[in-house]
Amino acid sequence: MLENIRIVLVNTSHTGNIGSTARAMKTMGLSNLYLVDPVKAPDGHASALAAGAGDVLGNAKTVATLQDAVSDCGLVVGTSARSRTHSWPMLEPRTCGRKLIAEVPNYPVALVFGRENNGLTNEELQQCHFHVCIPANPEYSSLNLAAAVQTLCYEVRMAWLERDARESIEQAYPLNEDLERFYTHLARTLTSTQFIVKNHPGMVMTKLRRLFNRARPESQELNILRGMLSSIDKAVKKD
Ligand code: SAH
Repeated sequence: MLENIRIVLVNTSHTGNIGSTARAMKTMGLSNLYLVDPVKAPDGHASALAAGAGDVLGNAKTVATLQDAVSDCGLVVGTSARSRTHSWPMLEPRTCGRKLIAEVPNYPVALVFGRENNGLTNEELQQCHFHVCIPANPEYSSLNLAAAVQTLCYEVRMAWLERDARESIEQAYPLNEDLERFYTHLARTLTSTQFIVKNHPGMVMTKLRRLFNRARPESQELNILRGMLSSIDKAVKKD
């Protein structure tokens, strides 16, 4: 179960943080580490800080984009040291741990961590269903990357220890890649009806992503939405 909980580090600068992350994960029973476009590949410094978690570090998968790391996940949670201008559905660290544990029997789930200097980009944050922020000292809320991984993995472990096997999730949520296909379709259709003006798209798609990510359509509901878009596409073509 815990092996389907994926820790994703985006564009990490310090290999030491990659090693410390591997150690933080293994102490909490997690092993699935993805590195998105690391500035430097894990080296001796990473191994030294991984200590007894060399296996987690050695098995880490390196991919080019965040999409490559999460497209087969049904739940993606992004982490942020501060809330952004376009606030997204938020989870408390404790609820986040419980949600990951509740849904992981259905599909892989991911916790995504950002760059040491400037976190995740807005575009990356928008690929997540929820955001989680460790409610640290408001005057200095930015934890070291591996310390943030440790804190959130601890919550995952607590939720796993208190899990109730009877509590399984009934509804099936679409994978992230299906949601992305829906957003591409939505943007195409809304551009064809000129609801979105091609050269001035504004924030419409960001706001719609926020809406649908908050609503979390189930697979069947997403099919209805895709069907609605196709019916609009057909009507537009006829005109
Ligand atoms: N200056 C950056 C902070 C980056 S800290 C910013 O404002 O976004 C590096 C990473 O550690 C973050 O991208 C996030 O993944 C994690 N992190 C640090 N502090 C955190 C906090 N309080 N809550 C959640 N994640 C945190």
